[in-house]
Amino acid sequence: MNGPEDAGRRRLFAAAAGAALAPAAAAAPRAGEGAWDVYVDVLVTGSGAAGLCAALEARAAGRSVLVAEALPDFGGASRRSPGILYAGGGSPLQRALGIDDSVDAMYDYLMAAGEAGQDQAALRRYCEGSAEHIAWLAQRGVDFGDRLGAAVEPLPAEGGLYYSGAETAPRYRALARPAPRGHVAAGPRGGATLVQALLGAARRVGVELRDSLAAQRLVAAPDGRVLGAVLDRAGQGLAVRARAGVVLACGGFAADDRLRAVHHRHRASVPLSWGGDSDRGRGIAMGIGAGAATAAMHCLGVLADIPVSGGIIINAAGRRIVAEDAAAGAVGSALLAQRGDCWVVADRRATPALEGGALQRAAEANSVGDLAAALGLPRGALQNSVAYYNRYAANGTDPLFQRAAPTLRPLQGPPYGAWLLRPGTGLNGACTLGGLLTDPEGRVLDGFGDPLPGLFAAGRNAACLLASPQAARGLALGSASFFGRSAGRAAAAG
Ligand SMILES: Cc1cc2nc3c(=O)[nH]c(=O)nc-3n(C[C@H](O)[C@H](O)[C@H](O)COP(=O)(O)OP(=O)(O)OC[C@H]3O[C@@H](n4cnc5c(N)ncnc54)[C@H](O)[C@@H]3O)c2cc1C
Repeated sequence: MNGPEDAGRRRLFAAAAGAALAPAAAAAPRAGEGAWDVYVDVLVTGSGAAGLCAALEARAAGRSVLVAEALPDFGGASRRSPGILYAGGGSPLQRALGIDDSVDAMYDYLMAAGEAGQDQAALRRYCEGSAEHIAWLAQRGVDFGDRLGAAVEPLPAEGGLYYSGAETAPRYRALARPAPRGHVAAGPRGGATLVQALLGAARRVGVELRDSLAAQRLVAAPDGRVLGAVLDRAGQGLAVRARAGVVLACGGFAADDRLRAVHHRHRASVPLSWGGDSDRGRGIAMGIGAGAATAAMHCLGVLADIPVSGGIIINAAGRRIVAEDAAAGAVGSALLAQRGDCWVVADRRATPALEGGALQRAAEANSVGDLAAALGLPRGALQNSVAYYNRYAANGTDPLFQRAAPTLRPLQGPPYGAWLLRPGTGLNGACTLGGLLTDPEGRVLDGFGDPLPGLFAAGRNAACLLASPQAARGLALGSASFFGRSAGRAAAAG
């Protein structure tokens, strides 16, 4: 706690001295005592996609809304992102482009490609509502263009629709009918135009937007109800009474070394390029201070777009670790689960896909045994893995991970090469996924699963759709904005 903030709090809450404090509360001024500086119905902390969507919904319900943003600029990671929202089941853009999609196909793909342990009810709700969500955003000025992009990267210029997941990969095609679902907001950086549109919509309906105003602590009544928050404005405390509720939408904790050291341990050094300076962990800390439970704090959403082609991915024990044709997020998770280095091992046929790319070649040899020796792997381990893999791949099966044709084929033909995969190398984007435990309405829950009255959270501040962002690009932004709306409605209802 810094000096000016302490001083501000002492001044603001002098009248409250002697009040019984709820466990969460740094101080507990009571409405009517004149200790509050500002009164609103709904206070939203954070101005990314989650916060702005929450604010718009709360305002649409007739509430007065203040959005407080810690940084001088609005928009957070949402603004810096490419502006991809994963949505389907018949969105307006899908229909306009003649794409046949269903809620079930979208859900089945996400269940297959996301990590185990998904919140199925929340995922189902997202799949059922995402098409309407795209229409809602478009009504508020978000332009998703009118083009169908290439089957994979690069993103469609001028916005549009593309396959932002691995829906067309044979392993998933067999389980769910594929459809492009990556809705990209138009503009040189889609995230910036998305945020601009949401800011414009918020201003038009009378949401109050304040930058350089950082939420510091929640204020709760003795019975635990969250009454408001203390914010920091240039070193001065500002006490905001939120009569209906506070929505925490402060992003994740990529930039919070303390929380990362606690929850990520051996992965604490993995760079989280999707987080950046705005993911300070403060919203999560405030929620915990108010008695909230957290979930999945150890989870990272990581993409590993590795051009594996016919190669295999092995760990420092010389063993394969994943179906190499899985979605980029699933491959990323498998890599992060390893403690040591990993490599792509390729034969002559698979090598061209890796040459000249982002990965560094670590070794080359004329036999698998010599390659293993050059990498310092345990004696015989890589030879065993390759022999086992080759035996079944020759018959079109992969008993270990169910990799599918056409990339399933035996490794044969020197030279053999190994390309290093290490945190920071081969992982092209990552963010924290864990956060405050919420229900699908965005109500923050305590350790008993009971809602904390007056407190709501969304986006990376909450653990919502925590496993799914592995399955496709655009699920983090999509779920932040979608569940941000739920949180705003719930807060407005009080
Ligand atoms: C370069 C990049 C690429 C990405 N690519 C993808 C992708 O391909 N697929 C995908 O799904 N996701 C991607 N993401 C991630 C995605 O954009 C984010 O997860 C999502 O936008 C988070 O939204 P949010 O509203 O929860 O948080 P944010 O947009 O980060 O907003 C949180 C806001 O809260 C503010 N804040 C923090 N602390 C406080 C406080 N104490 N008081 C007040 N305000 C506070 C922050 O400054 C910030 O403005 C990418 C992100 C980046 C940056």
